[in-house]
Amino acid sequence: MSFHPPELEEIWLHPESVGSHLHRRFLKFYDPGIFKELSQNLSFAEEVAAPDQQLESTSKGTLSPSEFDRSKKRLLLTPFHGQFFKRCPGATQKKALACCNYHVLNLGLQCNFNCSYCYLQNYINSPMMKYYSNLHDAIDELKEMALEHQEQPFRVGTGEVIDSLSMDPITLYSRDLIEFFREFPKWTLEFKTKSDSVDQFLDVPHAGNVVVSWSINPQKVVSSEEHFTASLQNRLAAAEKVFLKGFQVAFHLDPMIYFEDWKDHYADLVRDIKGRFRPEDVNVISVGSLRIQPEQRHMMRARFGMKSLVMNSELFPSDVGKLRYPQHLREEMYRFVLNEFGSGWKIFFCMETPETWISAYANTPMKVPGLKDLFKPLPKLMVTLSK
Ligand code: SF4
Repeated sequence: MSFHPPELEEIWLHPESVGSHLHRRFLKFYDPGIFKELSQNLSFAEEVAAPDQQLESTSKGTLSPSEFDRSKKRLLLTPFHGQFFKRCPGATQKKALACCNYHVLNLGLQCNFNCSYCYLQNYINSPMMKYYSNLHDAIDELKEMALEHQEQPFRVGTGEVIDSLSMDPITLYSRDLIEFFREFPKWTLEFKTKSDSVDQFLDVPHAGNVVVSWSINPQKVVSSEEHFTASLQNRLAAAEKVFLKGFQVAFHLDPMIYFEDWKDHYADLVRDIKGRFRPEDVNVISVGSLRIQPEQRHMMRARFGMKSLVMNSELFPSDVGKLRYPQHLREEMYRFVLNEFGSGWKIFFCMETPETWISAYANTPMKVPGLKDLFKPLPKLMVTLSK
């Protein structure tokens, strides 16, 4: 398993990021000729959008398909002066969804992988990827809350709007975060990735409270929908590697995608996992099915065409406004996965309604042994912005 830095056309530097640790790390991997400095007084859009490449963004502020494609080839290294830490989006839809108290720490924006179903297509209005050069501020923010609530089992993930590890061999942010979480053993840090980049942190001492989790799908879905990501076999091999070093391992079988012979492919995937891990080796397995914002379809059609397995599905509006498979199909998919795994595995349904839980498990998450702790309500964390 070897790391190949993603292909980038330009790396832009905010004046405050020039000479930062992050800048120096990127210089080790990229030709100095592609680095450009932003002027003090101009925004990225003003500086970069030359007359021949005016942004075609829609009036809603989202990017056009070609702008979105291009945003994966440009990177901005910049400090972030907002709030790094927030609750998982599921928590704001609590009436409709069963939520698992997850918190997110955003260390950048946009991802160098290219999944056809990616929700960022409808979310991002920035014409480039960003990585934040002031990790120390993020850690200060975390520390303030961790000191106040160190006995509460908060879970913090870094993979909401970036892939946690796809650029990590360059940034090495995992190392500082693992180190920080060693001081707060009741808190849990979760990396979420579709890469196989783990070697860069395997030697870091940890308190056993770091979960490395992989989004997984059958190789047929990886090949057709999850462009530039690691193969399923490489992801599972990376999971074995971190497990041997005492890190916790989790899997997100999400989004499950319906296609003609889906059962055979998902059965093979479950067999692969069971061949490598015992139920007690895996922290948790979350399962979810395809869900997209209605407006995302146009972008997906323009960027991936009708060959995509995702574009071939029939989807219906749900209570929370997203398009999803009909409830009976979702339940069939979840029951199938539960049966294939058999007993002993901690499986939960991500972004699902209580009805779906009851149908698949005959119970809500608070009553499923082994899952209760994930869903127990915790105090609301207050973030003070001192910057
Ligand atoms: S890995 Fe995640 S964030 Fe990256 S493109 Fe795929 S779905 Fe989007």
